[in-house]
Amino acid sequence: DSRGSDAPYMQIDPRLLLSSIVHDFNNQLTPIVNILEELQRRRDSTGRELGKIDAAIYCAFRAKVLARQLLDFANPRPAMPEPTDMHQLLAQLEFVLTSILSPNIRLTLEVADRLPPAMIDQQLVERALLNVVLNARDAMPGGGDLTIAVDLAFPPSSKTGLPKRMIRLSVSDNGVGMEDRTLKMAGQPNFSTKRNGTGLGLATVRQIVESLGGGLSITSKHRHGTTIDMWLPATWASSSNGAGARREGE
Ligand code: ADP
Repeated sequence: DSRGSDAPYMQIDPRLLLSSIVHDFNNQLTPIVNILEELQRRRDSTGRELGKIDAAIYCAFRAKVLARQLLDFANPRPAMPEPTDMHQLLAQLEFVLTSILSPNIRLTLEVADRLPPAMIDQQLVERALLNVVLNARDAMPGGGDLTIAVDLAFPPSSKTGLPKRMIRLSVSDNGVGMEDRTLKMAGQPNFSTKRNGTGLGLATVRQIVESLGGGLSITSKHRHGTTIDMWLPATWASSSNGAGARREGE
């Protein structure tokens, strides 16, 4: 009996439905943040009140990040890769990265010399990187070291199945690390160990890097820290790009 599938609600694309709910949700947050910021600026608030207002603003910010993750996951847009200079990408992002990290987290950027341009969709890779950096911040509530490094290396083929040398965008923290069980599950949609987590961060990162022909590998040691490697194609992987293409040197 196929009548069930003719019901009007079955015609609605669940992704569209989710997107419209999340959009509305986001629209409700904007006035909340505006009102809180107005209260924050008022001179007659006590220190205790200000502390509460700060906490509420932070919660609203987190809610916006969660909404963004849901939207990205429900509506992955097709990647539009272009040759991208990784030095430039990180230089452009440094300000945003510093502003989302608390002052007790020390950020180091290391980009290898003479990298070929990466064949990536800059906006999508920025999204992926922000997700990974937010996780690193969550893993270091008492502060710590965060290193973002870019170089060329061979991906571990057992984990990624990628045969070629690729650009490695690597984010390392010396935070809480993952227990074995968490390491096995991390990156599966909806898996989260956080009270308010969606478990969509790493799944979105994986979706993004795989849509570019790359991959994701995670190494972590409980109580020591975590490294998330995002493997991205270099320009030589693109056969259509004759002029800028270079042959692999090995
Ligand atoms: P969420 O952040 O919403 O939990 P993610 O998919 O981004 O979702 O992460 C899934 C889980 O992987 C987290 O809940 C956490 O347990 C673990 N994780 C991710 N990044 C790190 C990290 N840098 N250090 C320790 N654990 C991490």
